[in-house]
Amino acid sequence: LCGADELAVVSLPSYACQRHTPLLHHNTVLIDALSILAENAELSENEGRGVAFRRAGALLKSLPQEIRRVEQLRGQPCLGDHSLRVIKEVLEDGVCCEVETTKESRQFKAMKALTGIFGVGAKTADRWFREGIHTPSDLQRSGHNLNRAQRAGVQYYDDLNQPVRKAEADAIGLIVEKAVSEVLPGAKITLIGGFRRGKETGHDVDFLITHPEEGREEGLMAKVVSWLEAQGFLLYHKTTRNSYLESKDGPARPPSNMDRFERCFSIFRLTREESSMLSQCSGSRSWMAVRVDMVVSPYSQFAFALLGWTGSKLFERELRRWAVHERAMTLSSHTLYDSTKRQYLRANSEEEIFALLGLEYIPPCGRNA
Ligand code: ATP
Ligand code: MN
Ligand code: MN
Repeated sequence: LCGADELAVVSLPSYACQRHTPLLHHNTVLIDALSILAENAELSENEGRGVAFRRAGALLKSLPQEIRRVEQLRGQPCLGDHSLRVIKEVLEDGVCCEVETTKESRQFKAMKALTGIFGVGAKTADRWFREGIHTPSDLQRSGHNLNRAQRAGVQYYDDLNQPVRKAEADAIGLIVEKAVSEVLPGAKITLIGGFRRGKETGHDVDFLITHPEEGREEGLMAKVVSWLEAQGFLLYHKTTRNSYLESKDGPARPPSNMDRFERCFSIFRLTREESSMLSQCSGSRSWMAVRVDMVVSPYSQFAFALLGWTGSKLFERELRRWAVHERAMTLSSHTLYDSTKRQYLRANSEEEIFALLGLEYIPPCGRNA
């Protein structure tokens, strides 16, 4: 039944870190359907199921051509029965019932709206949903006690749910660069996260800060934050200090995928003067709120931090999974540990880390899994 054209797609390697995943791809409708199911699983705290749908979606993103019949996917990895069923239905009927039902469900809509509040995770949102709270306005009426992050999240809800554009990211980059060079000359900042992967928009802007003289970066975040605050750039910030050196369980095993760098999760106040492209601020307002993450790394760990904070989240997960299962190594945003040799492996660039892992180098634009 299969014509030659149907087998034209070569079978791809199964780990996302073994292949290029570009930003623009050929199977958007299928990927969007799988993303809804992934998102729903994540919001229901079913991580395993979420990852399965994400992996299936990422496989489709790596394909060099549009899929028209499910048979064309024969021999491809990462596609479980459930994902294949969804793909088949979308290809044959244009939509998948389960996806449409999910999108329309009260729970999914409410969980999306509530976790769209900065500082609100799936657990909290689920508790509120069960109490009949479905929207940020319901939440405000409920009189619940909110923490500082959540109060800021509600206050700047509309701005923070607008995509941040590259021009705004660049404007914030200039501000952070100024702050960093004022408090520690010679320190350098790098744009990381989605914008480093070539995305045109993002939900926030991420920066990595370091200084070529090891040790000079200590205490840097507090100074940067003070400077930014004094200049009126910060609407909210929460700084977490570096807990790497004090940790007892050893640097190769950070808890989950959290690392221990000094970091700051913040909300910037970006004015029209700083960004000439502020068309998205509503009405007469001359400023907008933008989520910004800043991380400080010692120079010796810079390559690992850069790789670990460039993403995507699935790409990072796949790198770590590859390291453990295929190389008996533990990769974190700080180091790479070789369990066989019982030693830490040093690297000065992302290219070196890929090489140590026995992987072909994938540039940031190919890490959009
Ligand atoms: P978006 O464009 O939506 O912001 P993004 O890829 O930049 O997408 P982020 O949530 O900003 O997503 O995360 C950027 C990178 O930082 C990801 O690779 C993620 O693994 C890493 N990261 C985010 N939060 C943490 C954290 N708490 N600890 C360690 N790494 C993190
Ligand atoms: Mn980001
Ligand atoms: Mn971020």
